[in-house]
Amino acid sequence: MTPLGIYVHVPFCASKCPYCDFYSLRQGEDAWEAYTNCIIERIKSYQERALPVDTVYFGGGTPGLIGAGRIGRILDAVRESFRVQPGAEVTVETNPGVGDESLFPGLAAAGVTRISLGLQSANADELRQLGRIHTAEQAARAVELAHRAGIGNVSLDLMIATPGQTEESLVRSARFCREAGASHVSAYLLKIEPGTVYHERRDSLDLPDEDGVCGLYEAACSELERLGYGQYEISNFARPGLESRHNLKYWRCEEYLGFGPAAHSFFEGRRFYFPRDLSGFLAGGEPVDDGPGGDFEEFAMLALRLTEGLREERCRERFGHGIPQELRRRAAVLARGVYWRVPAEGVALTRAGFLVSNAVISELLL
Ligand code: SF4
Repeated sequence: MTPLGIYVHVPFCASKCPYCDFYSLRQGEDAWEAYTNCIIERIKSYQERALPVDTVYFGGGTPGLIGAGRIGRILDAVRESFRVQPGAEVTVETNPGVGDESLFPGLAAAGVTRISLGLQSANADELRQLGRIHTAEQAARAVELAHRAGIGNVSLDLMIATPGQTEESLVRSARFCREAGASHVSAYLLKIEPGTVYHERRDSLDLPDEDGVCGLYEAACSELERLGYGQYEISNFARPGLESRHNLKYWRCEEYLGFGPAAHSFFEGRRFYFPRDLSGFLAGGEPVDDGPGGDFEEFAMLALRLTEGLREERCRERFGHGIPQELRRRAAVLARGVYWRVPAEGVALTRAGFLVSNAVISELLL
């Protein structure tokens, strides 16, 4: 059996950023403790099966907020309940504004191998506009502390198309990631999501127009590549060999189990998720079935987010046949434009295609 990924959603943050629609709440130690105990019970319910696992990812929210001790206890439960493979990738997301100097040594001692830090921008004005609770200097210090604790693999998040951002300021943020020693950068386009403070204030935000967004995305991609971060997905860049193995499972349509409110799973061919409801989760609420997963269309849609695209040999491995002729033919016609490439080994989006991926992928997979 292909080893699974484990995802643990930690739905707590020190404060709510005005653009964020992730499921996260402001709660204290009692809630963190109850949540940790509940997650451990859920994980242990898989103990009898001793399934193989090769990635574990704590996302949120701000997992670092609950402290290395609780993350260590959850990891112990994962090791007791699954067959965690030697060399497994164990990632913890955190925020440069939380935790003290003991956080990273504690995480390293618990077996964490990778840190993902929400930097978002290295520009003080942009950080303020985004409602972030940290400075760029704190982020650089956090990377240094992680390295010093023996966690060399640190990813930084950047945001593209934020209020008032310019190509110059974005390029400076990209360079900051390199100077801080990040091995990986995730650079996401800001989306104004309903239900957020930004959505309420959307008419007064100084946001770039469509051409501006394209220019910013192109500037970020080019600069990150120039700095030695290869683009391997629409929004993800890594130094060679340091791509996120856990996130690659999502895009390669491999299976994973998610624990915690808002966590999704794809397991034994079915997709299911826990509702965005901490109280319901703590009260023993069951996951909601989301139907079967992993058919060719879903596999292709996810693969096309990757720079390598939909590859002939991966289709053969998974489905016993290559890319259907009709799809290849349609891709060849579309490749006369600027959004597609059709190399011998498959079908892939260009960088221009990445920017409009939802629309052009639907056009290909009609
Ligand atoms: S720290 Fe991250 S998860 Fe928490 S509110 Fe801000 S953006 Fe959302």
